[in-house]
Amino acid sequence: MKFNTKVIHGGQHHDPSTGAVMPPVYQTSTFVQTSPGQPLNPDYEYSRAANPTRTALENALASIENGTRGLAFSSGLAATDCVLRSFKAGDEVIAMDDLYGGTYRMFTRIYKDSGIKFHFVDMNDLAKFESLINANTKMVWVETPTNPLMKLADIAEIAKITKKHNVLFAVDNTFATPYLQKPLDLGADIVMHSATKYLGGHSDVIAGALIVKDAALGDQLHFQQFATGATLGPQDSFLVLRGIKTLHLRVQRHCENGVKIAEFLMNHPKVERVYYPGLASHPFHEIAKKQMIGGFGGMVTFTFKSGKKEDAIAFLEKVKVFTLAESLGGVESLANHPALMTHASIPEDKRKEIGITDDLVRLSVGVEDAEDLIEDLKQALA
Ligand SMILES: *Cc1c(COP(=O)(O)O)cnc(C)c1O
Repeated sequence: MKFNTKVIHGGQHHDPSTGAVMPPVYQTSTFVQTSPGQPLNPDYEYSRAANPTRTALENALASIENGTRGLAFSSGLAATDCVLRSFKAGDEVIAMDDLYGGTYRMFTRIYKDSGIKFHFVDMNDLAKFESLINANTKMVWVETPTNPLMKLADIAEIAKITKKHNVLFAVDNTFATPYLQKPLDLGADIVMHSATKYLGGHSDVIAGALIVKDAALGDQLHFQQFATGATLGPQDSFLVLRGIKTLHLRVQRHCENGVKIAEFLMNHPKVERVYYPGLASHPFHEIAKKQMIGGFGGMVTFTFKSGKKEDAIAFLEKVKVFTLAESLGGVESLANHPALMTHASIPEDKRKEIGITDDLVRLSVGVEDAEDLIEDLKQALA
């Protein structure tokens, strides 16, 4: 099955009891047993362990990422936390130096006293990255493209190194989605998603996902998920599953609009720098062409010539079609000020060091008419 067919049919079955085409929202916590320890349906005893609506979503997730096992969580961060729970004091994790703010906060604050050591490195310096691997290294964590600076990491090259050293390799694929990039095919072991973003796609649900190919790793992660409990409820599972059915159509339009907005901003006299992997001028354009098949996404970040925070704020107060809000990946266009909003949890000096300046604006370009979006940007930049 090819991708556009998979988003609709992958891992899906008509409901066996009624023939319903979409899986019902099985809003139930528990399932009947015919004799103690003998559930009527052997797959379902209690919804924290498994729920049929969540199973339908998890099967869809596995299918679209070319994995064998999908797991759905109550948020993207809950999914990340599930992975980290496999490690113990003395273990080491190597992470990319530009991460979603909440991921960085979890690694540096929630796991601060865990004894797990985190290294943050430039994943494009492969020799330096490899030199950090030692006998305690358990996992490499990469986000590509990153939020908000659109840095890329070469998944296939990193996978060669992690395989050589027998270290797990996890990729946060939230920005690219499997429509554009399939980390498991490129050699990663775990794909993580904030399904709140493009997979859900309608800004109406908080959800997370993990997808793996290896069955034993899938069982281990499912055990963590079941035993700690941050599972996705049936209603939210239904919403994400519904979102996935149009993933290909939406992301295609996000990409088309993303290119148009990036080009418009590049040529605007008030704009200094545009971060978009589809631009030939983007420092990671070659990696983007290699691993992002079919487009470069809908996330566009830019800075002002003036370098002034006030200009960014004035722009964000003036947008009308774009909505000033955190999050991304929904059908509607959103605009965000990372330093004051999504990335405020990163200390100021660290933000400056990685390039999240006060005049930096991040756009999640939606699927509206590009002309209307450009008109809106024009008036807000005027
Ligand atoms: C939003 C986001 C997360 C966190 O996901 P939640 O669903 O908000 O918990 C992780 N990584 C990236 C790249 C994100 O954009």
